[in-house]
Amino acid sequence: MVTDVIAMIAQVTVLGADSDWWVDTGATCYVCSNKEWFTTYTLTSEVVMVSNQAQAEVQEIGTVVLKPTSGKSLTLQDVKHVPAIAKNLISGGLLCNAGLRMDINAGQMVMSIKGTYFGKAFYTEGMFKLQLVNQSHEINAIAHSDYTLELWHNRLGHVYCKTINKMSSLGLISKCGGKVEKCEVCAQTKITRKPFPRVNRSTDLLELVHSDICDFKQFSTKVGIKYFITFIDDFSKYAFVYLLKSKYEAFEKFKEFKAEAERQTGQLKRIRSDQGGEYRSHEFVSFCKEHGIINETTAPYSPQSNGVAERKNKMLTKIINSMLLTAGLPKCYWGEAALTTTFILNRVLYATSGITAYELWFKVRPNLNII
Ligand SMILES: [Zn+2]
Repeated sequence: MVTDVIAMIAQVTVLGADSDWWVDTGATCYVCSNKEWFTTYTLTSEVVMVSNQAQAEVQEIGTVVLKPTSGKSLTLQDVKHVPAIAKNLISGGLLCNAGLRMDINAGQMVMSIKGTYFGKAFYTEGMFKLQLVNQSHEINAIAHSDYTLELWHNRLGHVYCKTINKMSSLGLISKCGGKVEKCEVCAQTKITRKPFPRVNRSTDLLELVHSDICDFKQFSTKVGIKYFITFIDDFSKYAFVYLLKSKYEAFEKFKEFKAEAERQTGQLKRIRSDQGGEYRSHEFVSFCKEHGIINETTAPYSPQSNGVAERKNKMLTKIINSMLLTAGLPKCYWGEAALTTTFILNRVLYATSGITAYELWFKVRPNLNII
């Protein structure tokens, strides 16, 4: 007896196991081509109908647990094992019935439950491909470990896999398996990380601090935040970020940074910025003079001069965008993403130095298990 219609575009061809899962609004059940995905199953002798009126045999029915890149688990019950089907299908209708919300916009499907982000699918080859941490053929092994390379790649702001493996070998993060096949978010945001130029690097903390303001005013947050200001220690590359409603707040944030940083380490000696008015204001210049801080301003539009701060801000901006894209959040959440990104980057290894900024700054290793 035919029990379900699989999908309008499903193909009845015998192919190798498909490691992708596709959300299909036309399907009335969940279908999987590879038995290795199942955590539990029972034998059955059903058949299902596919688009060209052909029937396909269902061998087992059981449970499959998928891991979207949010780190949560998607447990599919009553999944039909159909060896002849070419694609693993997730019924969009059944997900909706289960309380999952799916918003489609600009080639992306964002899934959420009661306002909390759950997962994301990208429009590919005429269907929506669910983004998963890599589970193919390792499903049973991964079921016992939530920490895959792909999950850390997402958690650490889309950092290189090489860096994640090195951090894992140094014991900074737990051992993680799997691999990152192709990250759509990295491709969309074009994240590249070039190391900071090692020119005349400082030899001590707070010897030189780079600062710059980044403008996000077209994406003002719900509380009116329009900019962020960074202070980056040249020696350690440890960064402080503050959110601003107006550039006039830069001086107050500078004083806040100075107090916080000096309490943790030594005394600030030099600050380097571009020629932005907020760094040349009377109060800013007077304050530096009063505290014996050399206030260096660099030539405008000179790429080498304030390069550290500018590069950092560019990198932050890209990672903020990638985080929002991964989480399926609108741009107005960039402020939270900026603070989170800075927190993460301070705790990620620098490719060249093999040490985290956090460790150079605090003299202890960071605890990444809290992420
Ligand atoms: Zn990525």
